[in-house]
Amino acid sequence: MFKALMVERDGDGPATSAIREISEDDLPEAEVLVAVDYTTVNYKDGLCMSPNGGGLVRKYPHVPGIDFAGTVEASSDDRYKAGDKVVLTGWRVGEAHWGGYAQKARVKADWLVPLPDGLTPRQAMAVGTAGFTAMLAVMALEDHGLKPGHGPVLVTGAAGGVGSVATAILSNLGYEVAAVTGRPETESYLKDLGATTIVPREEINETVKRPLESETWAGCVDAVGGDMLARVLGQMKYGASVSAVGLAGGAKLPATVVPFLLRGVNLLGIDSVMQPYENRLRAWERVAKDLPMDKLEEMMVEAKMSDLPGLCEDILKGQVKGRVVADVN
Ligand code: NDP
Repeated sequence: MFKALMVERDGDGPATSAIREISEDDLPEAEVLVAVDYTTVNYKDGLCMSPNGGGLVRKYPHVPGIDFAGTVEASSDDRYKAGDKVVLTGWRVGEAHWGGYAQKARVKADWLVPLPDGLTPRQAMAVGTAGFTAMLAVMALEDHGLKPGHGPVLVTGAAGGVGSVATAILSNLGYEVAAVTGRPETESYLKDLGATTIVPREEINETVKRPLESETWAGCVDAVGGDMLARVLGQMKYGASVSAVGLAGGAKLPATVVPFLLRGVNLLGIDSVMQPYENRLRAWERVAKDLPMDKLEEMMVEAKMSDLPGLCEDILKGQVKGRVVADVN
């Protein structure tokens, strides 16, 4: 028997969670059984733990947790054997399939990646989907020509998970980082991560009035969407790119097409969930190389399994700073 944070729901009533003792027989069928060392809290975990499952969880009882790192206990797939250290992010694990808020998980071999050299399971979960996605976003900007020296790169939702990791990676790569935050108290935290300028959220989170403003940003990692993304598009330098990662500020994009037509601005969509295996490996290798581990330590909020429900509520209110790393054992 082992512990799992189980979400239960009676009909259309609100879902509630409790730590339960379950057995391996309760786990879904799949090729690889993993003893989970660490999991984390992403915005999507907040949605999956919410009273209506955020539209993501369809079947109860459910074990959430979109990420985990751990050790293979048994595998019927040749790619993995007992003792291998592995990481899982994405593939709708923790949404449609039982996830990492448990001491064991059974998943498809296709969904796993080997723990990257240079990262411990704890560090991998401090990175988690949020950090992995931040890396994908930076890689997409580079693939579209961004180089240090081109000018300031804007990071929105900077004190959150995606934003914190993006700030630390960009700064370490030699970029000048302008960090947008709605929490002025995080200024010294963001500067420690490498932000050179702090942009107060209210300065930039307004409805677009003019489709083009001064050319200011050489690139942008956007975790917010909505009015902020629409406004940022009109502030990009000629030919610059924005990686659209998140919707913490809303799913709508009340923008005009003028920045695309007159300034050749690129809006790059970033998806971490269905990311192909080769690019996953490439991104994890880049994380191990380009994210300074002392900065990752600064971002970490340590937690236990029993802390997860509260942290999942907090992240939906934009109140989690940096990255949660939860020891489930
Ligand atoms: P966090 O809650 O940790 O970070 C989001 C940050 O956005 C907050 O910390 C806050 O930053 C800012 N924010 C929150 N609410 C608002 C608002 N109403 N208006 C403006 N800014 C706001 O979440 P994550 O970093 O884990 O995820 C960020 C987003 O990225 C989410 O929407 C998530 O769903 C998405 N995501 C997408 C992925 C993909 O594959 N495309 C993968 C991972 C995440 P501050 O306090 O500094 O202003």
